[in-house]
Amino acid sequence: MIIRGGTVVTDRGVEKADIAIAGDQIVAVGLNLAGDGEEIDATGLHVFPGGIDSHVHFNEPGRTEWEDIAHGSAALAAGGYTTFIDMPLNNLPVTTDVAAFDLKLEAMKRSSKIDFGLWGGLVPGNLNQLEPLVQRGVMGFKAFMCPSGIDEFPAANQRTLREGMKRIAALGSILLVHAEDPSRLLEPKGSSAMDFIRSRPHVAERAAIAQAIELADATGCRLHVVHVSTAWGLKLIREAQQKGLDVSGETCPHYLLYEEEDLQRLGGAAKCAPPFRTASDRRALWTAEMIVSDHSPSTLDLKSGDDFTKIWGGISGCQSTRQLLLAQDRLDLPEVAAVTATNIARRFGLEGKGDIATAFDADLWIVDLSGADIVRREDLLYRNAFSAHEGQRIRGRTIKTLVGGAEPGSGRFIRPQGPPRNQGAAYDFVG
Ligand SMILES: [Zn+2]
Repeated sequence: MIIRGGTVVTDRGVEKADIAIAGDQIVAVGLNLAGDGEEIDATGLHVFPGGIDSHVHFNEPGRTEWEDIAHGSAALAAGGYTTFIDMPLNNLPVTTDVAAFDLKLEAMKRSSKIDFGLWGGLVPGNLNQLEPLVQRGVMGFKAFMCPSGIDEFPAANQRTLREGMKRIAALGSILLVHAEDPSRLLEPKGSSAMDFIRSRPHVAERAAIAQAIELADATGCRLHVVHVSTAWGLKLIREAQQKGLDVSGETCPHYLLYEEEDLQRLGGAAKCAPPFRTASDRRALWTAEMIVSDHSPSTLDLKSGDDFTKIWGGISGCQSTRQLLLAQDRLDLPEVAAVTATNIARRFGLEGKGDIATAFDADLWIVDLSGADIVRREDLLYRNAFSAHEGQRIRGRTIKTLVGGAEPGSGRFIRPQGPPRNQGAAYDFVG
């Protein structure tokens, strides 16, 4: 098959080229490629490497009334994504032992329309599960430094973190942390949006990231900080990278689009932890090396009401990540490819993914960038079709998403194939 006449976007640049595909791989990229098979005319269109969302919560098995694999993966495909890595919560049982892993893998194989990997969990009491989970093929482990909101997935105390990181380092794997220091979190003074934000101050993130980096240094463990929300957090990660530590971080579209004042207006659908921050945080975060959705949906009733102490924390958004970024015009096209695919593939050892080049998987997003639109509820494919992003400007109409050269349909299980690599300070985008 040949995709002909498109504008190919990679992290290296933008060029007119045909893409030849045989089986599930790209076999050539260049001008005027010869071929007598099926052709897709991409004249006037752009072709990106399929997006990789390494931070989603599809909640299956166990909480499929919030989201399920079939809906979540279809939403990703509609937004140009071809691979995701699912978090070890809020599914039930949580993915902290091999029995739970096996259940989830079966559900994924049955229902995922695109390729997928699985994160395991690090919680108090499951140290003996880390090695068997690595053998099963987890991408790495996620730990919470504060309560997760899910009783079955308790916070990792200092001892668990330290011992877990020693073992994860020995296994050559990576630890992801939700970094908020519980001793810095406050009781909300009231039920308003601003009361909620003030209960989770900047300093909680800063202190937790500093602690996690210290432990990474002491144990030699690779570390990745999920959903960084503050300029300080990003700065600590950059400084650790400059010292040679294997530390990285990600942010999410909602921290790039919204500020503290926006939460009241957007309402419960936009409650998440850590919460939205200030204008200067928002500006700084546009330089992050990875942007992922942290798609963490629930039913609408859990996101409704005026009492922000009671509303579930989590934002539905995975369908719109790339289109939201493209509409903001803060990153150029190669940067969008880098932060939504290439850098993520490299960081987590997804060999053969995240680029458009010979011998890479034919994971591609063919998109018409000429039109602008907004996020509309009726276009969302989630199990619960609503989002904090409704009404936001988007750019890019999906013409086709190809997963291994084929229409989305049956995704394959991806294990880490290479050691996690750190781009580190090599990426210094000015947003
Ligand atoms: Zn999350």
